Amino acid sequence: MALTLYNTLTRRKEPFEPIDAANVRMYVCGPTVYDYAHIGNARPVIVFDMVFRLLRHVYGADHVTYVRNITDVDDKINARAAKDFPDLPLNEAIRRVTTATEKQFHDDIAALGVLPPTVEPRATEHIEGMTALCDALVRRGHAYVADGHVLFDVSSMADYGTLSNRSLEEMEAGARVEVAPYKKGPMDFVLWKPSKPGEPAWTSPCGIETPGRPGWHIECSAMSEKHLGPEFDIHGGGIDLVFPHHENEIAQSRCAHGTPVMARVWMHNGFLQVEGEKMSKSLGNFITINELLATKKFGANQWHGRVARLAMLGTHYRQPIDWTAERLLQARATLLDFADLLAGVEAAGEPNADVVAALSDDLNTPSALSIIHGLAKSAKRNPEGAAELAATLEFMGLYGGETRDALNVGVEAAKVDADKVDALVAARLAARRAKDFKESDRLRDELAAMGVALKDAKDPQTGEIVTSWEVAR
Ligand code: AMP
Ligand code: ZN
Repeated sequence: MALTLYNTLTRRKEPFEPIDAANVRMYVCGPTVYDYAHIGNARPVIVFDMVFRLLRHVYGADHVTYVRNITDVDDKINARAAKDFPDLPLNEAIRRVTTATEKQFHDDIAALGVLPPTVEPRATEHIEGMTALCDALVRRGHAYVADGHVLFDVSSMADYGTLSNRSLEEMEAGARVEVAPYKKGPMDFVLWKPSKPGEPAWTSPCGIETPGRPGWHIECSAMSEKHLGPEFDIHGGGIDLVFPHHENEIAQSRCAHGTPVMARVWMHNGFLQVEGEKMSKSLGNFITINELLATKKFGANQWHGRVARLAMLGTHYRQPIDWTAERLLQARATLLDFADLLAGVEAAGEPNADVVAALSDDLNTPSALSIIHGLAKSAKRNPEGAAELAATLEFMGLYGGETRDALNVGVEAAKVDADKVDALVAARLAARRAKDFKESDRLRDELAAMGVALKDAKDPQTGEIVTSWEVAR
C-alpha cells in the first residue's frame, strides 16, 4: 500500500519511504504536565494516534516505534507547584503536580481511543542526553556559553529557518524577542540556563559551575535521539510548534550530529477553535478533555470519548477545525446508528481496503469516514458487511464494543416534547434570520441539552434555510 504524507519541510505531499521498514520511527511532542489537557491538545494526540495505527497496519505492529514525550520540567510547572503546594519544598510540590497531571492525561486520552505510544520518555530522565548535546554543540562551534547560559548560535547554521521557510534576515527584521544582553544574535536561543535557588537544578554542561536546567527545545532533541537515533522518519505536533520549537530542534540535532536531516517528514495538525472563536480562558470557551467527557459543560451535554474522537476525525488534520456542539451531536448520532448495526456482531477480517487507501493519502479521514458510511449502509443488508464495518471502526479507534447506552453517557432518558422542540427550532430560525447568532446558538444548545440534533439545509426552491431535527439517542 503506497503511503503519501504532506511534509512541512518540503511543502508538498510525498511518497513515504521509511529509513528502515522493519522499524518505522515517529516522534511527537507531548504535553507539558502542569494542568488538565484541553481539547486543542487532544487534536495532535488523536491525529498522531491515527498515523501510528496506519503505520502499524502497513508495516506491522512490531515494526513501528512511536515516541511521545512528557515534558516535566518547565517554568509553568514550577509556578503551578508553588501555587498549589506553597508549604512543600518546591521539588516535592513539582512531583505532586506532574504525577497527578500525567495520570489525568493518560485517563483522558485512553477514553478518546488513543493507544499508548511505544515509549513515553520524561524530560527529567534525559538530562544527561541534553547536557551531552550542549557539550557537542559548543565543541562543534554551534553554541556558546554566556552568563551561565548555553546559547545556540543561529548564524552558525547556513540553512537555519528551512522548516518555517524564512531566512535568518527575515526573522531578525521581524523579531520582537527581547534581546538579552548575553546573546550574540537576537535569534540565538537557550539550550541551558541557570536555576534559581530552590528550583530544579542539575549539573551544568560546558564547564559552567552553577547548576542549571534545560531550555525547552533541547528536551525533544535528546529524547528523540535516545529512542529513535539521530535520524528518524516522522516528527509531528501542532502547527504552532513549527517555529520556534521544531525549527530549533532541527538546528540542535543536525548541528550536534552533523546530519543532513533530523526527521525526514514533518507533520503538523491545524488548530482547533471553539464555536468559531479562538479557545481562551478569557473568552470563557476554554474546555478541557476531562470537562468534555465528565461534565455537561460543553453544549450542555456529556460526551463519550469515541464521539469526541469521531468529531475530531471528521476534519482533515491539516485544516483548522471548529469544535461545536452540533459536530458532537452528529458524531453521536452516527455512532448510535453504528452501535445498532453492530449489536451482537464480532469484528472479523481486515479493515476495509478503501478506508485504508483513503488514510494512506495523507490521512484523509473525511474520505475514510464517508466510505465507512457506505459500509454501514450495505451492512444493513448483509451481516458479513457488519463484521467488516466493526473491524474497520476498531482499526480507527472508533469502536470498542460500546452499546447505545454507553454512548449516550449523561443523556437522560426523558421523552422530548415535540411541540416544544418545534417552537424552539422556529425561534432559533427566527433568531438566525435576524442575525442574532448569540440567541440562535443559545437555543441550539438548549435543544442539544434535550438530546435534540438539528440539521440545517437549504430549500432548493426558495433558497431559505430549513431545519429538521431528530432525537440523537
Ligand atoms: P502545549 O501544551 O501548548 O505545548 O501543546 C501540546 C500540543 O497541543 C502541541 O502539539 C500543540 O501544537 C497542540 N495544541 C495546542 N493548542 C491547540 C489547538 N487549539 N488546536 C490544535 N492543537 C493544539
Ligand atoms: Zn518537541
